[in-house]
Amino acid sequence: MYVRLSDGREIPMEMHKVRIVQKTNLPPAAQRLAAMEGAGYNTFLLRTRDVFLDMLTDSGTNAMSDNQLGAMMVADDAYAGSESFYRLQDAVKEVLGFEHTLPVHQGRAAENLLSKAFVKPGDVVPMNYHFTTTKAHIDLNGGQVLELYTDEAMKTDGTHPFRGNMDVQKLKETIAEYGAEHVPFVRMEATTNLIGGQPFSMANLREVKAVAATHGIPLVFDGSLISENAFLIRQREAGYADKSIGEIMAELMSCVDIFYMSGRKSAAARGGLIATSSEEYYGRILPWLPVYEGFATYGGMSTKEVEAMAVGIREMTDLDTAGSGVEFVRYFVERLVARGVPAVTPPGGLAAHVDAMRFLPHIPQEEYPAGALATSIYLASGVRSMERGTVSTDPDESGKDVLADLELARLAVPRRVYTMSQIEYAVDRLAWLYAHRHLVKGLKFAHQPPVLRFFFGRLAPLEDWGRELVRAFEADFGTEC
Ligand SMILES: *Cc1c(COP(=O)(O)O)cnc(C)c1O
Repeated sequence: MYVRLSDGREIPMEMHKVRIVQKTNLPPAAQRLAAMEGAGYNTFLLRTRDVFLDMLTDSGTNAMSDNQLGAMMVADDAYAGSESFYRLQDAVKEVLGFEHTLPVHQGRAAENLLSKAFVKPGDVVPMNYHFTTTKAHIDLNGGQVLELYTDEAMKTDGTHPFRGNMDVQKLKETIAEYGAEHVPFVRMEATTNLIGGQPFSMANLREVKAVAATHGIPLVFDGSLISENAFLIRQREAGYADKSIGEIMAELMSCVDIFYMSGRKSAAARGGLIATSSEEYYGRILPWLPVYEGFATYGGMSTKEVEAMAVGIREMTDLDTAGSGVEFVRYFVERLVARGVPAVTPPGGLAAHVDAMRFLPHIPQEEYPAGALATSIYLASGVRSMERGTVSTDPDESGKDVLADLELARLAVPRRVYTMSQIEYAVDRLAWLYAHRHLVKGLKFAHQPPVLRFFFGRLAPLEDWGRELVRAFEADFGTEC
């Protein structure tokens, strides 16, 4: 919710009160430099003790509600037939409308099972955009991801309200080209993560569903960020302003054959699930569940998290809860833009994304501008962001880099975790960094793992620019912060 102050300013309002806190540290710049060198210029390899604001991800880092924590205390630790599972299944049925729920330990486990059950070598999987783990699982099963985004998707300074839409004409052409028998499913990802947390519209989902249904192809919905997409539909799509988040989610689900989600995002728990009303699809996936995850009534999750997810799914339908991240992201992005920082617009659903190609135009893509931006943000602030660009894109079979469509540093806003002053601090340090951007140079790989290299890869700065940057920072702010 946004509130207008008497001086005309509008600010996002926290519709909750904080009742448990965790202490955080602001390590001085020299310590940040040492930590970054120890982490091989990869923000994934930093430790919490060296991080001030952890904006790496919103995955598993959201503040739980008191009701979620309370539910964890009454979890039923049965291997088979756990009452906690039935409470989750009831929540899914009530909120999303599906008969069957298959719990899994997190979102990528759902992707593994779906890819195992549906994708054959030679298949293609059309989607509005890929997610790192989705693509990895489809690739591992011999399939190929086809991203059918619209021309608007890659405009990082755009105004289009639904940059996560799929290009429906391209979908028709793809099915005609490959044949429906080679398209095991069409995937739509809510609040499309890697293009800046951008939503798709209800109208687009309906059109995609209609095309897929004509060919008997199931529609798979990655709903890890479903409540944010529903919230943005309510704000941006004509005809939805008076609908509840629950009604919008139910309408979205009326187009969906198989739903899956990471419970770590919108649902503020740590787990995941697949849901469907189709006996056939359920029967295809179920046998694999105990092979990879655990028995069908816990799926590799702690029953405490099963309980928290059941409550979290119900709470996703609450307007204030659904908007808690989105409204802070909007404020964050608008403040960055006001200070001249090239943040991705319009604001998306999970993070403020900063466009590294506009921030650091002097760094060629081969030298990982988004990686340089994410690491320099940390040096200048202690704020941990995530590289979403060429470092996060694995090389092709010959080992050659595949240049990403976008080079972004993603500053996730974990739901209900950070306050206005912390956001203001991040904005200010990013603005300082932008003014000193000429000091930032590129990176090169020192060690490259064979798959999803962004997790454990180690890099090194070209020309030791980290030291230069910290020196400039200390000249302006001293050595204490
Ligand atoms: C996080 C995420 C996943 C993967 O879920 P994990 O729980 O991290 O395994 C899949 N899709 C989307 C859109 C996500 O945001």
